[in-house]
Parts: sequence; structure tokens; C-alpha cells
Amino acid sequence: MAKQDRTKVIIRCKLCGERYTLRGRRGTQGLVETGFKQCLCDNDQDFEVEEQP
Ligand SMILES: [Zn+2]
Repeated sequence: MAKQDRTKVIIRCKLCGERYTLRGRRGTQGLVETGFKQCLCDNDQDFEVEEQP
């Protein structure tokens, strides 16, 4: 039984600087899926995503 590959991700909005700490799952191609949609400031594209070990 393999454990789910969960990872902690910090998403920072490049527009307003708001930071979100989320838990995601590593999907295909090394992308992490967090289900994060958009920032409070309506930005839904311009983010800096940082994976935490
Ligand atoms: Zn924002």
C-alpha cells in the first residue's frame, strides 16, 4: 500500500503579496495540485509556488 504523496505548498500572489499555505498532491509531470483557484485580489494566474519539504 503506497501512501498518498502529499506535499506542502506555499503559494504567493505576485500582485498583492498574500501567501497561502496549502497541502497538495503531486500529480503528473511534477505539478502539485492544490485546488487553489484564485487570490483574494482576483488574481488567478500570477503566482509564485514554492514546495516545502
Ligand atoms: Zn493577490
